[in-house]
Amino acid sequence: MEQNISKIKVFAYLRKSSKQEKEGTPEKQPNSLNYQRRVIKEIAERNNLKIVRIFEDKETGYKAYVRENFNAMCGLLGDQGSDGEIKGIICSEHNRLARNFGDGGRILWYLQNGEIEAVYTHDKIFTNSSSDQMMLAINFAMAKNSSDETSYRMRQTWRSKAIAGMPPNQRIIGYKYVGDKGKKVWVKDPKTAPLIVKVFETYSTGEYSLEEIARYAASIGLVNKSNGNKPYGENTVREWLSKKEYICIFEYEGERHKGKYPRMISDDLFYRVQDVLLKRSHRRGKTKNSYAYSPKLIKCSNCGEYMTGDIQKGIVYYKCPHRKEPCKSNPKERLPHLKETFIDESIMKKLKQIEISEEKWKELSGLVKANYQYAVAQHEEDLREMRTKVGYEVGYKKQYSKAISELRVKGTLTKEEEDELTGYQDLISDCNKTIELYQKAIDKAKEVMNEIPFEMEGFLESLKIASTRFNQGTPANRRVIVETLCANLRWDGKNVVWDWKNKYRNLINQENDIDWLREQDSNL
Ligand SMILES: [Zn+2]
Repeated sequence: MEQNISKIKVFAYLRKSSKQEKEGTPEKQPNSLNYQRRVIKEIAERNNLKIVRIFEDKETGYKAYVRENFNAMCGLLGDQGSDGEIKGIICSEHNRLARNFGDGGRILWYLQNGEIEAVYTHDKIFTNSSSDQMMLAINFAMAKNSSDETSYRMRQTWRSKAIAGMPPNQRIIGYKYVGDKGKKVWVKDPKTAPLIVKVFETYSTGEYSLEEIARYAASIGLVNKSNGNKPYGENTVREWLSKKEYICIFEYEGERHKGKYPRMISDDLFYRVQDVLLKRSHRRGKTKNSYAYSPKLIKCSNCGEYMTGDIQKGIVYYKCPHRKEPCKSNPKERLPHLKETFIDESIMKKLKQIEISEEKWKELSGLVKANYQYAVAQHEEDLREMRTKVGYEVGYKKQYSKAISELRVKGTLTKEEEDELTGYQDLISDCNKTIELYQKAIDKAKEVMNEIPFEMEGFLESLKIASTRFNQGTPANRRVIVETLCANLRWDGKNVVWDWKNKYRNLINQENDIDWLREQDSNL
């Protein structure tokens, strides 16, 4: 065994391909576990590596942070630090390791930081050189869009799942999953299906907010049976309203399939609803920003990490992520969770003492400009997001067209292939509708951006009555105000403290607030 001593020690990572489950001959599958085992053995021999431990997962590589053994492997690598004995990871292909930036980012971080020196795959060794890191990052990103899948493999998945036309292992309100094990099919649930249609129809009028539509759904009997008949929340209802499963399109392992089960909603109704959803979400600002002070606004003063928002029983809390010391490994030293209303109150108290004189008023123009830029940036982010979505759809269209032309080359097609072909055509037409939808939203967003200067004037006005405005503001409003006025917001377990931004400090009628000056000094 002397040879082993000189061998470089590595971990190996395998991830079960979900394609395997339904297809009869796992040996021939390009990504079966047996195949992966053979490949990692070859890689190890070729590169004189010793596999210390093999980690295996079944979960999809598309979602970040969900794979137990991947997490365990990363945990060990993180613990060993930059001079540990494990020098790398072997996997058959980089997309086994990660198909998302979250998990991919961890691997890249370990390469950068020295926890590992290389990632070995069947056709390439990624070292910690910056060009290799970049290649790996690009590969992780591409794996997410599946655009690096060979046409062969793409077709393999589609053939098995798309021909079956059933979304595996999913439950969606409105449908029932019935039949023998392994042969289950979706049928409409006679109780809930008509109600779902009603929810779509009602929302499509554009006269109801999501909150109202959630109440409506409960009122007609769509309640959560597995949770004591409680009404479903706004977010769940929003999810229903955007589920393409209802127009017979579903996603599996990041790829889109044409479903072969009864359709719930017509395309026309579905896209009218998407239109309302997009318009409403833009009118009211971004829904995902339901936290005023996260991401990245308030820090845990124990460890200096930004706190993250969380909703528990309708109350917003901020918590330290416990990623850094001393919070990481000393539970006793951790600070209590911070209620959002407590932050609001602390800031409000100070805001109430502020009075801005008319002459100082003019100086605010700088602030207005800053805020204007902030708002523009927000909309630009929306635009970017929507343009990315259009880009995805265009990419999908290309894939489907390619698949179609590959089938057409064959001349005579089997019944199954004919079906496959129509499936692709339907998917393409859905891409077109989605593109049109986002295109409209993009145009709308551009219009809104033109109105921002007027909104900003209103904001200026509101600074005069900052505390009132603050009190009534949405999380996004409060965030803008706090970002404008405050710096270094942090929670020390008893008090929320911050520094006033320089520009604003000059506008404050300082004699009025001795207490506050003292606080400022203590930070110097
Ligand atoms: Zn902390």
